[in-house]
Amino acid sequence: MTQIAHLILCRTSKDQMRSGVRIITKGEGARVVDEQGKVYLDFTAGLNRPVHVGYGREELGQAAYEQMRELAFFTPMQFANRPAIALAEKLAEVAPGTIDHFLFVSDGSEAVEAALKLARHYHYYRGEKRRYKVISRRGAYHGVTAGALGLLGTIIPMRHIMEPLVPGTIFVESPYCYRCPYHLSYPSCELLCAIDVERIIQTEDPEQISAFIGEPIQQGFGACPPPRDYWRIISSICASHGIVLIADEVICGFGRTGAWFGCEHYDIKPDVITMAKGLSSGYVPLGAIGCTAAMLEPIQELHHLHTYANHPVSCAVAVKNIEILQREHLIDNAREVGSYFLDRLKSLESHPSVGEVRGKGLWTAIDFTMDKKTKAPFPQSSLIRLVDRAMEKGLIIKTVAQALDFAPALTITKGDIDEGVKIIEACIEEEEKELGLRK
Ligand code: PLP
Repeated sequence: MTQIAHLILCRTSKDQMRSGVRIITKGEGARVVDEQGKVYLDFTAGLNRPVHVGYGREELGQAAYEQMRELAFFTPMQFANRPAIALAEKLAEVAPGTIDHFLFVSDGSEAVEAALKLARHYHYYRGEKRRYKVISRRGAYHGVTAGALGLLGTIIPMRHIMEPLVPGTIFVESPYCYRCPYHLSYPSCELLCAIDVERIIQTEDPEQISAFIGEPIQQGFGACPPPRDYWRIISSICASHGIVLIADEVICGFGRTGAWFGCEHYDIKPDVITMAKGLSSGYVPLGAIGCTAAMLEPIQELHHLHTYANHPVSCAVAVKNIEILQREHLIDNAREVGSYFLDRLKSLESHPSVGEVRGKGLWTAIDFTMDKKTKAPFPQSSLIRLVDRAMEKGLIIKTVAQALDFAPALTITKGDIDEGVKIIEACIEEEEKELGLRK
């Protein structure tokens, strides 16, 4: 572990800083190496989950280099550049539904900000100037900038320290069936979490609501695919009130769930999508929004600007990244190896602390509990110990809420999955012994 004097790290406690941090120096495929030369199998694609095509792709470096030499920068206002045009054309081929116009920004939070603003522009130019409220879900994560932070329904200190936030967020419940917020069970619940949105819209005044935002598969409780009909109900409620439906594809997009976009698993017709992470596989900072022609139709001018919007170098890298995803059939791999991964994790469900295993494609989670009957919370300290134990054994994993959440590179093999799951099982057994859940 290394002490760092001058660099500020995000979400790293004083205690962690005092005991030192690992410095990662190299990556190849689904593995990274630290400064001491220790190799880790990475089940998190860089912890924040962006590295879809795996580490060490020289052709992405080459694409950046060539574009920097040709044209490193020119403004996104009134001028266009070839890589951004090419990326928009490519995305129009693969984006869900009728999404076919794109703006590129620098990360997922900026994409969410831009999506919220686009929705406001749409209503404004159509004369519906009172629409400003946004529906988000308890447990949602959509980023850290002002608008996105207002939608945050999890990681509560991030929210509380920054309050008061941008006004106008309406929170509804998430489709988190394992610990249902209404204490009901699917399917006898008849999807109250979706149906109840209509009642909440009525009390908030439908004519004041601008947008509904949600991830097709939600991260806030650990990779959590909703029941099939959830999105059909939400989509139809939004459409009936003229509410813009924003699908946040920042994690789900670009093959993570075994399809190009998370929307493809459900009956959703989004008006706007947000993207980042797998769009550039983390090789350059890049986010994007996509929208339908109908969204843009009334808007005379988008009063929004980042200097680095439609950045030629980032877009050139993303074009090459998408070429790799297609050439190497990585989305098929995510589907096939993902289903193998889920089966392997399901074999751990007999462990006393493993409450539920779930996921889609190469995005899976184990939701832990101290008591399978009551679904009693699992101590955070135990989750942290699971991560530490795995790290010792050469596997990088992460916690989300009461779960371990896994999202490896889409290049991962079944052999790598076997290696990682064996380590996860050993860590769970050690922790269960410590908690007195097994002898
Ligand atoms: N939306 C979702 C669903 C995310 O998972 C994230 C980040 O993890 C964001 C938005 C914000 O993206 P960024 O961290 O790139 O700003």
